[in-house]
Amino acid sequence: MSDTGFCPELSGDVREVRDWVHEFARTVVRPAGAEWDEREETPWPVIQEAAKIGLYSLDFFAQQWFEPSGLGLIVAFEELFWGDAGIGLSIVGTGLAAAALSASGTSEQMGTWLPEMFGTPDDVKLGAFCASEPDAGSDVGSIRTRAVYDEASGDWILNGVKTWATNGGIANVHVVVASVDPALGTRGQASFVVPPGTPGLSMGQKFKKHGIRASHTAEVVLDNVRLPGSCLLGGKEKLDARLARVREGGRSGEQAAMRTFETTRPSVAAMAVGIARAAFEYARDYAREREQFGRKIGENQAIAFLLADMATRVDIARLMTWRAAWMARNGRSFDQAEGSMCKLVAGETAVWVTEQAIQILGGAGYTREHPVERFHRDAKIYTIFEGTSEIQRLIIGRAVTGLPVR
Ligand SMILES: Cc1cc2nc3c(=O)[nH]c(=O)nc-3n(C[C@H](O)[C@H](O)[C@H](O)COP(=O)(O)OP(=O)(O)OC[C@H]3O[C@@H](n4cnc5c(N)ncnc54)[C@H](O)[C@@H]3O)c2cc1C
Repeated sequence: MSDTGFCPELSGDVREVRDWVHEFARTVVRPAGAEWDEREETPWPVIQEAAKIGLYSLDFFAQQWFEPSGLGLIVAFEELFWGDAGIGLSIVGTGLAAAALSASGTSEQMGTWLPEMFGTPDDVKLGAFCASEPDAGSDVGSIRTRAVYDEASGDWILNGVKTWATNGGIANVHVVVASVDPALGTRGQASFVVPPGTPGLSMGQKFKKHGIRASHTAEVVLDNVRLPGSCLLGGKEKLDARLARVREGGRSGEQAAMRTFETTRPSVAAMAVGIARAAFEYARDYAREREQFGRKIGENQAIAFLLADMATRVDIARLMTWRAAWMARNGRSFDQAEGSMCKLVAGETAVWVTEQAIQILGGAGYTREHPVERFHRDAKIYTIFEGTSEIQRLIIGRAVTGLPVR
């Protein structure tokens, strides 16, 4: 792994990617945002357009994931979510499932299933990552979905109910976290890939949401889902060795769901930065035009200072996100929970900045005539999913105190 040293100046290649994604976000995504928010449906035509230009593709995700500074995917996500977060998540939701597969899968499993998650530009497919359950949200150790090994056939049989799954039930490939040994909590869990058309997997209720409404969120029911041994990510030998170590009292870093969240936190933070920036820019432009009391509202310090704080906080969130992404890419360990720090700051910044944007637009900001109320609804999910703000503080609190904070 080459070490590039952290530098907040983007390379020419990354700038090119940023500008290319920005153009797509400006001309295709932003204009479609309001419509798909109202429709609350997966924006298949927009995903197809993204696939046609190569933005929704395994190639693009893989290339940017491995970009040496770690910032390729990060700047792409900021631009896309600057366009619209609901559509953005519909385009990158597959990336979470792909990250889950890559975190635990063998190269053979990646070679087989990653292309199936994306499909082709003519036949676009999606991936879904299913960890959360009705009684296991923040408390991932309480996952009840069971995976039982059938010695006779070498198959695994999965039973349980997953909830809140982005693309759940409409994805071609689902990655499911299940408990193999419930007594071991998160350490007794493993991830499985559920291939297209597997009997027993079905969609439960689809949720109607506050924001990111173009992104599909649903329950996934697993009723006697029978999977060949090859669907256990990482393989049985590795799982058996790990469980044996844990049972003997040894530590094992392999906590299936947690591994996925660690690698994806900076990219989730980048989405929040994109929403926050969109709201700041919209409010700034409005404040330059709107007049009350015979002057631009932006000429009042009350408004200009608010815009100053908004711009500053967006930059803080972006810099923390870039640092964490660079650290992850260059093999630095998150000793102070820097991944959680960036997700916490970016999520809370997005909520705060989008709320201030509504304030700056006044009554107009409260209506659907302007996108800032949608930005605000969309931003809120970033203090909830991929670990709530409280859970990020728990992780950071433990890291900085070295105490078993609860
Ligand atoms: C739109 C959307 C998309 C999602 N996509 C996916 C997906 O693709 N795949 C997936 O697996 N999951 C997904 N999720 C699930 C998401 O990760 C969970 O909602 C999240 O982890 C919180 O879990 P919960 O909703 O059960 O809340 P709970 O865990 O019940 O938390 C409720 C409240 O209690 C607080 N709390 C809980 N424990 C503690 C504690 N120890 N200390 C302090 N406070 C605490 C929380 O911070 C929160 O404020 C999605 C959720 C949503 C809403």
